[in-house]
Amino acid sequence: MTSLDTLAVHAGRADLTALGVHALPLDLSTTNPLPSIDAGGLSYESMATGGHPTEGGLVYQRLWNPTVARFEEALADLEHTDASVAFSTGMAAVTAAVLAATVEGRGRHVVAVRPLYGGTDHLLASGLLGVETTYCAPHEVEAAMRPDTCLVVLETPGNPTLELVDIAAVTAVAGDVPVLVDNTFATPVLQNPADHGAALVLHSATKYLGGHGDAMGGVIACAEPWAQALRRVRAVTGGLLHPMGAYLLHRGLATLPMRVRAQQDGAGKVAAWLVGQPGVREVRWPGLPDCDPHGLVGRQMRGPGAMIAVAVEGGYEAASRVTESVRLFTHAVSLGGVDSLVQHPAALTHRPVAAEAKPHADVLRLSIGLEDPEDLCADLAQALAAAH
Ligand SMILES: *Cc1c(COP(=O)(O)O)cnc(C)c1O
Repeated sequence: MTSLDTLAVHAGRADLTALGVHALPLDLSTTNPLPSIDAGGLSYESMATGGHPTEGGLVYQRLWNPTVARFEEALADLEHTDASVAFSTGMAAVTAAVLAATVEGRGRHVVAVRPLYGGTDHLLASGLLGVETTYCAPHEVEAAMRPDTCLVVLETPGNPTLELVDIAAVTAVAGDVPVLVDNTFATPVLQNPADHGAALVLHSATKYLGGHGDAMGGVIACAEPWAQALRRVRAVTGGLLHPMGAYLLHRGLATLPMRVRAQQDGAGKVAAWLVGQPGVREVRWPGLPDCDPHGLVGRQMRGPGAMIAVAVEGGYEAASRVTESVRLFTHAVSLGGVDSLVQHPAALTHRPVAAEAKPHADVLRLSIGLEDPEDLCADLAQALAAAH
């Protein structure tokens, strides 16, 4: 099999030479000329039910866009799946997965393994999608399953505390109920959940895939029957990724392996430095000895990633002062870009999460970028000193 680094540069580009172009073509057409009513209508019918365009053409951008399809093909290659389906945001992708699972599956019950990204946790609890959700820990999935369970949702590493979940252990107890794994933190560079039995591999493409903080998107890698179900939801409900976003995300894939490995190296240095610093209560990074009790790094993940959770002494007040005192880190939500960010999960990304599952008030989440780790440590040192 072609190596990941090579695939990242070449996936979704096989036809460019034949087309006589070098950069990714960007097709912004919202509508497309129709050869005839009959042919256009048949193509419309095929795409609105989750299939591909036929001789009748692309018809309308909500049904199909070549720039988006090209990005989907590339991401599917990186995740070792038949296909992938891209959406306007990660949350549009989560929504489509839940809607597709309720139609394809046996009922309207979802099992959700905590911790999850706050938006996903909130969406599943909200009742907006008409599903009932049981939240549980990884070892409780089997007990939480019911005859009407249509989907199991998990995230590993989990947001924001970096807990790792054994994907194969969960897919084994889920049986024929599909398991959705949010692979946003690991990226296909460090983990391929489909190889461990996940039916649906989701990314907030807004984060590492794009990598530059300038494009929103979501994508689900899966087998073709699931892709059809997801494309149908997308065509009908309208959460299509904008072609400009698809162009930027696809361009981001070329540097994804290099970025993720360099950011991971930096995170390792920052995490090691943070351990034992004055003002630091606990550091969580999957590469630290205590943070991977089941030995999943090396077995399920090819590396610990570039996200760190740090609990500071002095609770919310101190955490708040750290966010106000950083100069090189940007105090902002989101993650996975080339520059380092710090944010307070309990107050921001995980604000809508129920009290019993909310991150502690002293926890900050760091997304390590491509800066020199020594400069990042110096910034954290002065911010921790200012906070205490
Ligand atoms: C950001 C994020 C999402 C949601 O993605 P959006 O693109 O913001 O809609 C889902 N899961 C994880 C792990 C995330 O970090």
